[in-house]
Amino acid sequence: MWSWDNGSTPTLVKRPTNKVRAYGNTKKYTRMTAGLVDGDEYTGWEMTAITAILLNAIGVYRVPSDHLFIYFVFLNQLTEEQFEVIKQNTILCDEHISARMALVCSHLINADDKGFHEAIDSDEPIELDDNYQAWCDDCERLWLQEEELSDTFKAFADMKVVCEECYFKIKDRNL
Ligand SMILES: [Zn+2]
Ligand SMILES: [Zn+2]
Repeated sequence: MWSWDNGSTPTLVKRPTNKVRAYGNTKKYTRMTAGLVDGDEYTGWEMTAITAILLNAIGVYRVPSDHLFIYFVFLNQLTEEQFEVIKQNTILCDEHISARMALVCSHLINADDKGFHEAIDSDEPIELDDNYQAWCDDCERLWLQEEELSDTFKAFADMKVVCEECYFKIKDRNL
């Protein structure tokens, strides 16, 4: 199973594999476009090798378990300091194992179709110590009126911390 098809893989981890799927689409190579692929251990290595080349990986790794072979592709190397930054910027929520912090206005938390305005485009990767932030249409109107991070805006938006996994779910519901 490709990680882009795996509901339990964090978005941050699986997002790069979309590039592999896109490449499979242009080449009409179904083993790279189907979420679940029939094959053996070597099929797994082949797909891992292709992924490593397409994503400019620095290495790959296989985790054996009783009935699964899990293949990891490493895209970058972190220093201990960078790892500490990530750890401090990571939270646990009730639903997700561990993900980076993100901020959304209080109106978006349990809502649908409220609009979704982002401080930074979340389709692009961000710096390790950065966080995605978004607010609804009503907040955006007030933001344009206030033209700064005023107390009025802060009180109205009442930004809440969510995990990045929840952030992308909220984005899907409200965009
Ligand atoms: Zn809002
Ligand atoms: Zn979450």
